[in-house]
Amino acid sequence: MNSLNTELNYIKGVGPKRAEILKKELAVSTIGDIIFYFPYKYTDRSKFYKIIEIKSEASYVQLRGKFCCLTLEGHGAKKYLHGEFFDETGSIDVVWFKRIDWIKKDINTTEEYILYGKPKAFKSKFSIIHPEYETVEAFKNKIKAPFSAEYNTSELMKKYYLNSKAISKIIHEIFKKKIQLEEFIPEKILKKYSLPQINDAIFNIHFPQNIEKLEAARKRFKFEELLINQLGLLQQKLVRTNTIKGILFNKVGENFNAFYNNNLEFELTNAQKKVIREIYNDFKSGKQCNRLLQGDVGSGKTVVALMAMLIAIDNGYQATLMAPTEILAQQHFESISQMVKNIDINVRLLTGSTKVKERRIIEEELMNAKLDILIGTHALIEDNVNFKKLGLVIIDEQHRFGVIQRAKLAKKNQTLPPHIIIMSATPIPRTLSMTLYGDLDISVIDEMPVGRKPIKTYHLYDKQRVKLYKFIQTEIEKGRQVYIVYPLISESEKMDYKNLEQGFENIINIFKPPTYKIAMVHGKMKPDEKKSEMDRFVKGEANILVATTVIEVGVNVPNATVMIIESAERFGLSQLHQLRGRVGRGGEQSYCILMSGNKLSSDARKRLETMTRTNDGFEIAEVDMRLRGAGDIFGTQQSGSPINFKLANLTTDFKILQLARNEASLILEKDPELKSMEYKKLGLKVKNKMSLNLANIG
Ligand code: ADP
Ligand code: MG
Repeated sequence: MNSLNTELNYIKGVGPKRAEILKKELAVSTIGDIIFYFPYKYTDRSKFYKIIEIKSEASYVQLRGKFCCLTLEGHGAKKYLHGEFFDETGSIDVVWFKRIDWIKKDINTTEEYILYGKPKAFKSKFSIIHPEYETVEAFKNKIKAPFSAEYNTSELMKKYYLNSKAISKIIHEIFKKKIQLEEFIPEKILKKYSLPQINDAIFNIHFPQNIEKLEAARKRFKFEELLINQLGLLQQKLVRTNTIKGILFNKVGENFNAFYNNNLEFELTNAQKKVIREIYNDFKSGKQCNRLLQGDVGSGKTVVALMAMLIAIDNGYQATLMAPTEILAQQHFESISQMVKNIDINVRLLTGSTKVKERRIIEEELMNAKLDILIGTHALIEDNVNFKKLGLVIIDEQHRFGVIQRAKLAKKNQTLPPHIIIMSATPIPRTLSMTLYGDLDISVIDEMPVGRKPIKTYHLYDKQRVKLYKFIQTEIEKGRQVYIVYPLISESEKMDYKNLEQGFENIINIFKPPTYKIAMVHGKMKPDEKKSEMDRFVKGEANILVATTVIEVGVNVPNATVMIIESAERFGLSQLHQLRGRVGRGGEQSYCILMSGNKLSSDARKRLETMTRTNDGFEIAEVDMRLRGAGDIFGTQQSGSPINFKLANLTTDFKILQLARNEASLILEKDPELKSMEYKKLGLKVKNKMSLNLANIG
């Protein structure tokens, strides 16, 4: 009866109805499930107050004393229970509005109670509304836990009296039955990091004996989660490098050299050179390249991607570049076609709006290997897109492509998997790249091209608009171009934000055509309409581009020097940084101007302040993660996400993550398959976790 698989309705105080509610609301149905339903916070129940010590409303107090004078007062719906609670130093009012008849009967005025609640000043006296109470007798019988755990519950749960206290009681019942969990982390490792054994830890997570034991328990579960995550990722990597052969690209040939000697218009930065070397080393290793290419906005990832593709072509293979949006795919197509001008390389574009005729040509050329580089969007992953000799896949990913899509692309070469490079559009904090992309090698372009002037960023309030327009005018007079970005595209959504169409009207009123030329793009346009408007701006025919965030990623117009972001408080940090990265691409001084209303939340203020303070994308990514949490950034809060940890926090637990990663590599060095007596149990946990992730993604 006492196994972890025991259904909860067999536990005292649960029963079938409450078991059903628990299952529905918390996805908790067995003993094993509920003891891993961890508290979200703890309150300190070690300290007792004397009533005379209550001097402010500030925080919760715990008292010891007796009740008296409990009377029902008021009438009908306004009826309430009023009474007093006293100790040897004084008395305090207690009030209940709900379950009053029951409570009145429940309380025995001759008995001593522990009272817990938040005092409020009322008519020169303090009172506590809906205090928690229990007899001193019951309090003593409870497991002695000075910190009481608080559990998240839902409205429905409360209806069935499944509040935090009830959950705690259920878990207490389970522990009374001397439940035993099996330890799966080797003793040596626990010792090494001073971590408690699992039974000790699980008990202290729910009923902390003292603060040290609580911290130790939390540390253990954090370490455990991160260790399993890292073992899974590193093992995956190991399996790949040991068992999967990669396509051998062992030469740098005529296309690469032609590009490098004749077409490359600038000197590569040392960081770019270093990264190309890292990629080439993978290519000629005989193993599959699986690399995350990180670099700040504007650090020059595209040219690195192109040079990698040229190596693939020089070795007789095809390459493909996949972008998250149609505009970006288009841009990549144009800039890459331009870069390989006069070199005998066939580049084509495939997106959702590619015409059937062009599609046919692409499909044919893919199969007879006449096509060297195919650039596109998600359309590339479709089943009818087949390559003759696919050697390299580059994914320009605004965190939008999942593991499954990556795997699907990798299958597009029947014999050997193609090399894979993932470029992240904005920098990713280290803890995130370690947990989310921990199975990949990582290259960082940590240097900007020379001669770039750092973008100057200002925050202006709406009332400073006149100043803004003057500034736009001077920049246009210098021959520069200006972006104006709006968060929304129609008035039907929130009224208080400037929307694009209205903004467009305003701009036209101030910068009157035909003296000024204004282009506009937004997400609801047809692709060719969007393209022709974009083109006007790219070619320098339009002075101002009014846009929504469709221009967020990748758009490259070096002559544009001003990025104005309207209602900037509405944008997230990485989006702001990404947008700002659209300027500062030429040699001229560029500016980013963040427009906002006066009313700003503290988070919004922090975002705008961060943007004006720094241009460093890695720093911005860290702040972003601190403000939003890792799960939010990656939209990966679903249970299947590899970074959906119970306790580990990627913002604050970098140190533990580092330890877990080191330990994971040490373990795998000794036992790569986790099959030995020592690591077998741990290996099973890793396997379960990995298959759970995949199941959830699929
Ligand atoms: P991102 O890393 O944001 O994708 P891009 O690859 O679009 O950046 O490069 C931004 C701009 O910088 C492009 O106009 C590109 O031609 C230019 N660029 C790239 N590398 C260098 C370099 N080493 N020196 C000068 N300009 C460069
Ligand atoms: Mg780019």
